[in-house]
Amino acid sequence: MTGTKSPSSTVHVVGAGLAGSEAAWQLAEAGIDVVLHEMRPDRMTEAHRTATPAELVCSNSFRSDDAANNAVGLLHAEMRRLGSLIMRAADANQVPAGGALAVDRDGFSAAVASALEAHPRIELRRGEVTGLPPAEWTSVVIATGPLTSQPLADAIRGLTDETALAFFDAIAPIVHKDTIDMSKAWFQSRYDKVGPGGTGADYINCPMTREQYDAFVAALLAGEKTDFKEWETNTPYFDGCLPIEVMAERGHETLRHGPMKPVGLTNPHNPTVKPYAIVQLRQDNKLGTLYNMVGFQTKLKYGPQQQIFRTIPGLENAEFARLGGLHRNTFLNSPKLLDHELRLRAQPRLRFAGQMTGCEGYVESASIGLIAGLYAAAEARGGSLAAPPPTTALGALLGHITGGHIETIDGATRSFQPMNINFGLFPPLAVAPTKKPDGTRLKGNEKTVAKKQALSARALADLDRWIAEHLRVAAAA
Ligand SMILES: Cc1cc2nc3c(=O)[nH]c(=O)nc-3n(C[C@H](O)[C@H](O)[C@H](O)COP(=O)(O)OP(=O)(O)OC[C@H]3O[C@@H](n4cnc5c(N)ncnc54)[C@H](O)[C@@H]3O)c2cc1C
Repeated sequence: MTGTKSPSSTVHVVGAGLAGSEAAWQLAEAGIDVVLHEMRPDRMTEAHRTATPAELVCSNSFRSDDAANNAVGLLHAEMRRLGSLIMRAADANQVPAGGALAVDRDGFSAAVASALEAHPRIELRRGEVTGLPPAEWTSVVIATGPLTSQPLADAIRGLTDETALAFFDAIAPIVHKDTIDMSKAWFQSRYDKVGPGGTGADYINCPMTREQYDAFVAALLAGEKTDFKEWETNTPYFDGCLPIEVMAERGHETLRHGPMKPVGLTNPHNPTVKPYAIVQLRQDNKLGTLYNMVGFQTKLKYGPQQQIFRTIPGLENAEFARLGGLHRNTFLNSPKLLDHELRLRAQPRLRFAGQMTGCEGYVESASIGLIAGLYAAAEARGGSLAAPPPTTALGALLGHITGGHIETIDGATRSFQPMNINFGLFPPLAVAPTKKPDGTRLKGNEKTVAKKQALSARALADLDRWIAEHLRVAAAA
């Protein structure tokens, strides 16, 4: 962080959720005065139950805490190194959960609240921000989350030219490409169509026989689904994103005439037999490490999803970077609307953080709050902060939000979808490990484990270097 001005200007943070609380903390710790605005309890969201900052609206889990083998565990480790308040409060309020970091939700939120309230540079101000922040707030971090109140959501929409900010987002599962069995699946675009940005072989195709299709449709119909909450029933479906099980309910053959159409494709492993149905997966990130299941948005519960989708030939051992789901969400088309420091291009005094930016999950939201706070602090000091390396979990997630998606492939404009942190977002290793420390060759799953461990080690080393070069220098100044 470089800077010449003395810390004088106040930064306003809107929303004391996971991201806003962390952003306010980072700003205050960097010597910047903060007003943290929170509408609860005056106005509640459909999911929050308390007035406490950083309330966990659903599960009490921060997921895996394994920094060596799991991308979210790595993100935990990086946030701890960056002095995260959310991680400090989580660590102090752990409950037993195997390898996961789960917390006593009330103790966790109370710890965040008392740290914020005790900080001399933070004022927690209750009240809804009901429109665009006033012009005299020259630096604002908006972290109002997936349930942003309507007047503010409307005001933001007015600035962005987007048709909608809140809708049921179509979340289809995303698979790690290296877990797809290419001895059964193959690359091909329908009718070998090249299209802008394509090669004619852009999709991974998984073939099904009639028996496999029949069993698959039956499993979809029988699989346990999540229920819509009452308030969710008033929000429209995003155009063209009917869940697959809803399509299956409309008729046994509906999917075969929709996303599972077996036309324009030839199975090179068995060219004389025409598949009865085909599941297609499309590249999901620039790196080509992740593929999403085309048209497979679903309300099936996570367990049945994994079980049913692994019956698809080629996906028997699939590892999912994200499972499917449909819920109301408010998020920006960030790659288009935000610059690389999370500022709204149309009005750079407004910076965004948390789930609104297109990350998914408590930890991810808090981490984007953390980096937004650091960016805003650097700016308030009259300087700027170099981006965290893309090889770190924080940098990889930020890269996804501010540009890692692909805009067009096979001629269709792609929409930006929220994402959990996962190793598919990281740039590949220069050299993938092939041998164990004792010199013997890695086999099968050992290679995947060694790759994740090498990505994690690289991330932590690069983060430490970035902290030393860009943050310690600022702290000492
Ligand atoms: C129903 C539901 C269930 C979820 N379950 C999980 C889960 O189990 N695990 C998981 O990891 N993630 C879950 N998520 C995602 C979760 O919301 C995010 O992971 C995380 O809470 C987002 O953090 P945030 O800081 O962006 O938003 P939030 O934590 O929601 O914080 C936003 C804050 O802004 C306030 N606010 C909103 N509008 C205004 C306004 N106009 N003025 C002032 N304040 C305002 C809100 O009251 C809130 O305190 C769930 C989301 C929803 C909607």
